[in-house]
Amino acid sequence: MLESDFLHVPVESLSRSFRRSQRYVEKQVVATQKLASRAKSAEALKQIRTRIDKLGQNLKKLEDEEEKYLTQLEERVKSMSREVTSKDLMSTFVCDFLARSGKFDCARKIATDQGLEDLVDTDLWHEFHTIRSAILNQDCKSALKWCDSNASKLRRLQSDFPFRLHVQTFLEQARCGNVEEAIRYAQKNVSPYVKTDSQNYEQRLRLSRRAMSCLIFSGEAGRGSSQNYSDLLSERRWKDLSIMFEKEFRRVYGCAKHSSLRRTLEAGLAAIRTPKCTKGKHKECPGCDENLGRVASFMPYFRPANTRIVCPISGKIMNEANPPMAMPSGHVYSLEAIKTLTNEEGLTKCPVTGVLVPFQKLKDVYIM
Ligand SMILES: [Zn+2]
Repeated sequence: MLESDFLHVPVESLSRSFRRSQRYVEKQVVATQKLASRAKSAEALKQIRTRIDKLGQNLKKLEDEEEKYLTQLEERVKSMSREVTSKDLMSTFVCDFLARSGKFDCARKIATDQGLEDLVDTDLWHEFHTIRSAILNQDCKSALKWCDSNASKLRRLQSDFPFRLHVQTFLEQARCGNVEEAIRYAQKNVSPYVKTDSQNYEQRLRLSRRAMSCLIFSGEAGRGSSQNYSDLLSERRWKDLSIMFEKEFRRVYGCAKHSSLRRTLEAGLAAIRTPKCTKGKHKECPGCDENLGRVASFMPYFRPANTRIVCPISGKIMNEANPPMAMPSGHVYSLEAIKTLTNEEGLTKCPVTGVLVPFQKLKDVYIM
């Protein structure tokens, strides 16, 4: 489960690359056939030759891209079937976390140094951050291009994101007072999404009607004149679009919301954290650590069925096989640890007080 993104991403990238190659070849073949049927001169034949050469070059590029994803997939399957060292696994998780956070150079450097390039999706997260930043900077172009490359997948997922992007582009043109351009844009790009047989028909129809009404309040003169449409012209819509993009991006590539590093930490902390954990209370407890405690703050507490008592010397659990023993000073240690503290004369040295006590003076401890 921790590695769910691991295989999804290269499979989805490969499928996207394959679809792109297929579309490109189909388009080029039709265009070349058309040219060939009309070709009557040497010049026309030369044009066809140039076109075919270019097609070959571009196909080579697409083939290299597909090869890259296939290698990634192969390496990932191999790494899942072989014994991966905990160091490599942790480095992969750290690289994934850095790439998701936008620290691409750092992620690339660690991945290259440790030979983990095929296991980390740095380019994918770079694409994500570039598009997300563009949306936050009120620019839909790269997001629309991304929707175009993933059109069939988004259609299968019944995503509303491409429609929302087109409405936003239309609203932006209306807000700037480019009325004619906005109407042309809506006819070409917004209307096709409002189909009676679509799942979101009512919702899309309502939004597109409200968006069209904004044309009345477009331009400087109309700005702020209608409270009813303020949400459509508000800058908050860009933030909402960026959140929607984040969600759709994860759906397209099958990525989990949080990084593997975070999910690993959460799983570990959930097994340790108790209701007694408080920031900085117990130095050695990860659940009490300021930073780790913050990660675990919304995790459920660990509720063991039975109390476990751990020997402060050996760190082993004290039970019937390794019972707790009390020193006259009141300090309690496990029998196994006490044996290591007892000398040949049968005297046990308390590690806290330093006092030597005959072994017989130690008492059994019973826990109810
Ligand atoms: Zn604690």
